[in-house]
Amino acid sequence: MDFVVLAGGVGGARFLRGLRAAAPEAGITAIVNTGDDVTLHGLRICPDLDSVVYTLGGGIDEERGWGRAGESWTVKEELTGYGADPDWFGLGDRDLATHLIRTRMLDAGYPLSQVTAALADRWQPGVTVLPMSDERVETHVVVTDPEDGRQRALHFQEWWVRYRAELPPRSFVQVGVESARPAPGVTEALASADAVLLAPSNPVVSIGTILGVPGLRDALLATPGRIVGVSPIVGGAVVRGMADKCLPVLGIEVSAEGVGRHYGARADGGLLDAWLVAPEDTAEIPGVDVRRVPLLMSNPDTTAALARATLDAAGVR
Ligand code: GDP
Ligand code: CA
Repeated sequence: MDFVVLAGGVGGARFLRGLRAAAPEAGITAIVNTGDDVTLHGLRICPDLDSVVYTLGGGIDEERGWGRAGESWTVKEELTGYGADPDWFGLGDRDLATHLIRTRMLDAGYPLSQVTAALADRWQPGVTVLPMSDERVETHVVVTDPEDGRQRALHFQEWWVRYRAELPPRSFVQVGVESARPAPGVTEALASADAVLLAPSNPVVSIGTILGVPGLRDALLATPGRIVGVSPIVGGAVVRGMADKCLPVLGIEVSAEGVGRHYGARADGGLLDAWLVAPEDTAEIPGVDVRRVPLLMSNPDTTAALARATLDAAGVR
């Protein structure tokens, strides 16, 4: 069996780890959001790709959910000593090695997909990790500047990490998306998948960004198997992160039903054949097989059980 997962960072990574445990014999391809990518201090940083590879490779800091275990922050302190901007982004010493290698390879002309494969060679994630695109696509957030009332676009990382998503977003813009194409392997994986799973990732700035890559949504819709999504909203609230700040911008209700309706029924021009919501939630989405199962990925067992439920809903187990 071959499965494809559309994934953001932490939610995507944990779901992938559960799927790998639930289907150890399967070929799994992760198509990962790169809209959060940013260049800081001359280094190219890909937070969601790194979360996926570190999590699956056993290098993640489990508490934080991102970055390396056993991290130290000497370089960051030294940069602060110089007053070097930006000082709000957490760059750990161990993590820096990843960004140094990535930046060197990109500068030498390798596409991000090949760089990602080279980095994964160390971590052996057990799944094929693909960036959604080799072209740069960066999510910017349009906000109203509290100082002068003018509209301003910030990089997603600045909005989220520096301002803790406290500046109300007016819109999200995918800078560079017009000239992006799915990375090598993405459409091929979708064309031969036995099922496609939408991880419980942010519907706007993770899954939405992936689906915005020209051609990717059509490739997804043409996939021969079923498409099953997992709600990132549990009990009417986000489990972590800022999806509750993002969804209203697109007019989507912060609920399992709201997100499910946003993705829509495949039978009706949308994406979903099935949609998994938590036992405490309900969702009425005509044309979609809605199932209520525990959705919290609190430990390896619950996460693998969730992955098995998605495979059940996909009819491949
Ligand atoms: P990010 O890139 O690190 O923000 O991660 P993702 O986009 O992959 O995932 C963020 C989303 O995952 C948030 O909307 C969370 O509500 C959701 N999430 C996090 N942990 C869980 C969990 O245990 N279960 C479910 N269902 N959703 C989760
Ligand atoms: Ca992310």
